[in-house]
Amino acid sequence: MRARGGRVTTARRSLLEALFASSGHCTAEDLAAIVQAKMPDVHISTIYRNLDELERLGVLVHTHLGHGPASYHLASSPHGHLVCERCGETVEAPAEMFAGLARSARKRFGFRIDPRHFAVLGACAACVAAEPAPVSFAGRRKFTQRGPGGSLGDR
Ligand SMILES: [Zn+2]
Ligand SMILES: [Zn+2]
Ligand SMILES: [Zn+2]
Repeated sequence: MRARGGRVTTARRSLLEALFASSGHCTAEDLAAIVQAKMPDVHISTIYRNLDELERLGVLVHTHLGHGPASYHLASSPHGHLVCERCGETVEAPAEMFAGLARSARKRFGFRIDPRHFAVLGACAACVAAEPAPVSFAGRRKFTQRGPGGSLGDR
């Protein structure tokens, strides 16, 4: 048991090293590849088990950035994600960006959202900029006085 525990601990340490080195957003398979490069006898099931345990211990969180497998993060850097569906660009969004949504979900539905678990999908600035300009109809060129920054909380 002790020998086994020791081995698991070594695998776990190298798993955490892999996560630190990669600054997060690694799937279990990415992490397994990094760990196995150094420790070829560590089985993928050991990686999965350790990821589960580290998540239970609150060291890691997982997030879903799209259709693929979950990505892992250190729990010490909580943030949400904006993922571009076209180019795959991932923007790390600070948790407070979701504060307004969290407030209204709570207020209207009594629902507590977890903005970290799933990404918000859409199109990144570069992809939006690369869109062909829309055919301009006279009535369509409608601008408000507000810039893209919007007005900052005058309420
Ligand atoms: Zn999940
Ligand atoms: Zn994009
Ligand atoms: Zn992230």
